[in-house]
Amino acid sequence: MADGHGRSNEQLYKRACEVIPGGVSSPVRSFRSVGGSPYFVARAEGAHVWDVEGQRYLDYVQSYGASILGHAHPAVVEAIRKAAGEGTSYGAPTEREVLLAEAIAERVPGCDMVRLVSSGTEAAMSAVRVARGFTGRDRVVMFAGCYHGHSDALLAAGGSGVATLGLPASAGVPAGAVADTVVAPYNRVPEVGRDVACVLVEPVAANMGLVPPQPGFLEGLRKACDAAGALLVFDEVITGFRLGSGGAQGVYGVRPDLSVFGKVIGGGLPLAAFGGRRDVMDVLAPAGPVYQAGTLSGNPLATAAGLAVLDLLDEAAFTMLAGRAAELGPALAGVIEEAGFAVQVPVAGPLLGLFFADAPVTDYEQAKASCGSGLYAALFRALLERGVALAPGPYEAIFPSLAHTHADIEHTLDQARAAIASVPPPG
Ligand SMILES: *Cc1c(COP(=O)(O)O)cnc(C)c1O
Repeated sequence: MADGHGRSNEQLYKRACEVIPGGVSSPVRSFRSVGGSPYFVARAEGAHVWDVEGQRYLDYVQSYGASILGHAHPAVVEAIRKAAGEGTSYGAPTEREVLLAEAIAERVPGCDMVRLVSSGTEAAMSAVRVARGFTGRDRVVMFAGCYHGHSDALLAAGGSGVATLGLPASAGVPAGAVADTVVAPYNRVPEVGRDVACVLVEPVAANMGLVPPQPGFLEGLRKACDAAGALLVFDEVITGFRLGSGGAQGVYGVRPDLSVFGKVIGGGLPLAAFGGRRDVMDVLAPAGPVYQAGTLSGNPLATAAGLAVLDLLDEAAFTMLAGRAAELGPALAGVIEEAGFAVQVPVAGPLLGLFFADAPVTDYEQAKASCGSGLYAALFRALLERGVALAPGPYEAIFPSLAHTHADIEHTLDQARAAIASVPPPG
């Protein structure tokens, strides 16, 4: 249906595909893994987005976690509006950068110092460079199923269930770029040799569906890093300022040497950060020899949005958010089970996952087995038809926001009951 200006989802997608590869600015948005074509968002408010045809969706994507208060929160919008009137970028330091760095350092146990960048990709890439510069070592250990953005060295593919030197996970990544990247299975403490600069991990994996750390995993990584003189880097781009004000490191009580943030911290604007121990962060130029820079780093609009968000994220907010997830998770699992499907709905604080599997998923091999069933795509489509938007891919987490009400959760469960009834059972 067009809106009178010839802007149906279909029409826009067709035009987009002519001028944008795959029609999207980031691959998961394309609906390739769930079928069909994407809805084009016209606007959003709170827990909902509206597409260009006027269709409303209860939104569990929330910009993959960048929006934690819900869309267009008045305090964030006002902060951005005010900041914009004062200029959008200066190429000189500002007070808000200091305030945001202070706010992060105050909240996150492992962060004495912080540098602001513009994307999670940049933050993870820079943290690894800092770890290499600080240790004088090249090797990086990461985990299959974790995502750290799309820098060459971190686009490495894992082998099947064993630690392997990475192979490029994308065309265009030279073998040399991942020659020092080791990919190990998640939730098992790998061997960490004395040639390892850092072990990089999502403390709660949220890019292979949601896979929480097994007891002892994060503690084991800390020990292995200490024994080898390697740095432990937590990629908290999703967990930071979402699991609690101290992120996953606050919840699990394991202190990394470096941390990577994004998504929540920018309040929906392009902002990310990495931080850590003072002696480690001191290697950064101009204080030290590790180069890292950015024209738009610490952008005045983005810092304004980030500060406005952090200002509203008190303990009550995190409790409420986790409460919503606790309300939705087991009930959603119940609804899907009643329909005859084996399902796992893991919950970690305010984050949820959805696997069609008969036992909890603990690593990427198991996640892939579940995601290969096609059931997620079927449920996704049936829910979308009913106005509930999950992410258009089985490897994404479910992100309730602070704008999701009890009634929204009830509505989700009702729609899920109807949606799953339309999905043919397996076999
Ligand atoms: C999203 C994400 C990134 C990359 O952030 P971008 O801002 O998309 O570059 C890195 N790490 C994790 C854990 C993420 O979820």
